Amino acid sequence: MMQMPRRDLSRSNAQFRRAVQRLPLGVSSTFRYWGEDRTIYLAEGKGGRIRDIDGNHYVDYRLGYGPAILGYADNRVDAAARRGMEVGGVFALSTERELAVADRIAKMVPSAELVRFSNSGTEAVMGALRLARAYTGRESYLLVEGGYHGLFDAAMWQADVEGWDAGSNADPEVVPYGKGIPPTVRKLAHLVPMNDMQRLEDTFRRHGDQLAAMLIEPIQGNCCAISARAEYVQLARKLCDQYGVLLIIDEVKTGFRVAKGGVQSLLGVRPDISTFAKAMGNGYPIAVITGRADVMRCFRCGGASHGGTYTAHSVSLAAAEACLRILDETPALATLADYGARLKTGVSSILDARGIVHSYTGHDSMFGLFFAAEPPDNYRAWKTSDYSFYDQMAYFLHDLGVICEPDSREPWFMCEAHGLDPACLTDTLKAVETAVDLTL
Ligand code: PMP
Repeated sequence: MMQMPRRDLSRSNAQFRRAVQRLPLGVSSTFRYWGEDRTIYLAEGKGGRIRDIDGNHYVDYRLGYGPAILGYADNRVDAAARRGMEVGGVFALSTERELAVADRIAKMVPSAELVRFSNSGTEAVMGALRLARAYTGRESYLLVEGGYHGLFDAAMWQADVEGWDAGSNADPEVVPYGKGIPPTVRKLAHLVPMNDMQRLEDTFRRHGDQLAAMLIEPIQGNCCAISARAEYVQLARKLCDQYGVLLIIDEVKTGFRVAKGGVQSLLGVRPDISTFAKAMGNGYPIAVITGRADVMRCFRCGGASHGGTYTAHSVSLAAAEACLRILDETPALATLADYGARLKTGVSSILDARGIVHSYTGHDSMFGLFFAAEPPDNYRAWKTSDYSFYDQMAYFLHDLGVICEPDSREPWFMCEAHGLDPACLTDTLKAVETAVDLTL
């Protein structure tokens, strides 16, 4: 048995004991709690790396769940953000820059006819669903199992997989993600398994004329980067048209990452509404709801309400202007995808040398690592698989200086800075090799 090199986390542990007196679980988002001894507190991030308050350095593949597309503390984006700060921050009034950023988005994303800014992915998807309801005059909506669309009540439903016979369970129970979500909301939510064409058709046949929208993540950024097959999304498009339902493609994680025009541009599907966030601001809080002009025009006086004190905040907007310009006009996305491809090749040669069967989901810019010959095609396949090897390996990686989410549902995210820092790859592969050997 190899000896595990343990990090010194004494300062983080002490911070946790103090923080838990003031902050529930000692954190500001429940997902940041990794247990009493393993919850880390950060000092800083630069490029593709972070440092915790104990002085441990890590190559970071969580990247804040994806936003740091260029890398942390990117000078180009931060300089623009500072200029946004100097003009005054928040006015709750309009500025010229909004149009410049909206024009850039319209140039990059073919379906983006009109654009509304929001502050977070949750807000954007919540606004998109409201918009669809306002446009169609209907209340129900369709979600895809394994998808995540934010923290608002309508989005927080999942299929209950306890005792599932995966694939044969025609009508799984739909349960809330947690307490505090009213069961009455449930009456409006329908769920379908990803990539199951037959079930999609059946569901539209039964409920299509009551649905305002179908929401789908084209790569499930919260479920092991499972990809929607092109024919599945194309069928969804066709059924939505047939039943007068709006197709909402949620590109909060994939947008301005997988491709300039989003995954939708690769699938050949034009959604009615789409939502973008994370990568568009390199970490500054900004999101958009965008789509068909006639639908988007429901955001009007006496129509669907949308707004908010902080929407199109000067700092986030200036950051987004700089970030989107870089993503549009430089090879940043190719750099980070190429890095992801090299990382996968390196990880595979370590695993292959040990005879460990594995596969990848998603895209080179955000991928899931899966310990089976065939990657999962839907949430059920992931849920009923054995992900214990991944979980164990992830913990070892933390101790060895590589951060990925300790839950195999969260993909590994690449940033431009990873690709520009040659040591990132060698440091990561060294840690992966040791972590795999420790896990075996
Ligand atoms: N949609 C998707 C696809 C997401 O991945 C997320 C967040 N991970 C959200 C919506 C919600 O975004 P936020 O955390 O910014 O509210």
